[in-house]
Amino acid sequence: MTKKIPVCVLGATGMVGQRFIQLLDNHPWFEVTALGASERSAEKTYEEAVGGRWIVSDSIPDYAREMKIVECNAENIDGKIAFGALDSGVAEPIEKEFAKAGFAVVSNSKNHRMEKDVPLLIPEVNAQHLDSVKVQKKNRDWEGFIVTNPNCTTIQFVLALAPLHQEFGINKIFLTSMQALSGAGYPGVASLNIIDNVVPFIGGEEGKVEEEPLKLFGEWNGQEFKDTEIAISAQCNRVNVKDGHLETLNIELDKKGSLEDVKNAMKKFNPLKELNLPSSPSQPIIVMDEDDRPQPRMDRDLERGMGSVVGRVRECPVLDYKFIVLGHNTVRGAAGAAVLNAELLKAKGLI
Ligand code: NAP
Repeated sequence: MTKKIPVCVLGATGMVGQRFIQLLDNHPWFEVTALGASERSAEKTYEEAVGGRWIVSDSIPDYAREMKIVECNAENIDGKIAFGALDSGVAEPIEKEFAKAGFAVVSNSKNHRMEKDVPLLIPEVNAQHLDSVKVQKKNRDWEGFIVTNPNCTTIQFVLALAPLHQEFGINKIFLTSMQALSGAGYPGVASLNIIDNVVPFIGGEEGKVEEEPLKLFGEWNGQEFKDTEIAISAQCNRVNVKDGHLETLNIELDKKGSLEDVKNAMKKFNPLKELNLPSSPSQPIIVMDEDDRPQPRMDRDLERGMGSVVGRVRECPVLDYKFIVLGHNTVRGAAGAAVLNAELLKAKGLI
């Protein structure tokens, strides 16, 4: 590719926005040409706006430092892709405006995820759901369109379950999450609420975790998405970890497979291999055999944070199997997932 595709990041100053800035540094296909945020940040350089809030790596990439932040107004921004990292309280109208103006909006916010003609995308799991894009544009009379990421807790376990769903079918899931602080945005949870503590509630999270997999594993019927049927019960907790959500799962399969069959299905799962997308993990599901792994601090950066790290796969005396899944919530759970989604859009000729 000779000329890179111009992209903007909406919500560039926040937790997920910062991760976009990092992951898009020297991206082989995309070039960041505009950074959007609120009027509080507008007109400042990125470095001035983010200041002491830069938290995702050692330093702000050079390309972004002196870029002027603009308000998120499609009329003032040129580009083909709008990466969305906006507070969900403001994302809905802004993302619609960008889609109407012709952008491919690749969003992290919850607002459009469950709409009947908007794909909720994990490229390794449901790339075929992109067939909905043509219908979405027609339904809404938009030049562009919206594609969404699942919630950061959903994405990593649905990725890990995808080969099991394909090979055996899944009837039931019990999930307990231990979610990192960066999942709450910046500044997030007050330090005095989380030091020496676990907070056993994350507003709205359990509903998303119970609902989104049904769409992800569901079908596009040419007009709208139809959910699959899996009984899911989730309990979500905030823990004192910077990055990386750890989740325990107990699952019941439809067709029984041995423990080795289950592990092998995960290990060999790599449906995007042939596409060679720049952000694809070489191994989407990493299965660890050590008794005490994965752990967030040690394993969240495996596969550049783009993998789902599974461990302790074993039989469950109540359902069929139980295991742990770890995912980097701002990489595979947010910005990295969106960049991979955009790469898939490009590979499929939708950009
Ligand atoms: P955050 O740290 O609070 O950042 C929010 C961003 O939205 C900031 O750039 C902020 O800009 C911008 N913003 C706020 N009000 C605005 C307005 N009126 N107009 C334009 N921009 C505005 O949140 P986050 O954690 O990055 O999350 C961003 C989105 O991704 C949310 O919808 C969240 O639910 C979702 N998400 C987050 C994670 C995660 O792990 N954190 C994972 C998956 C999905 P200013 O700096 O100018 O205020």
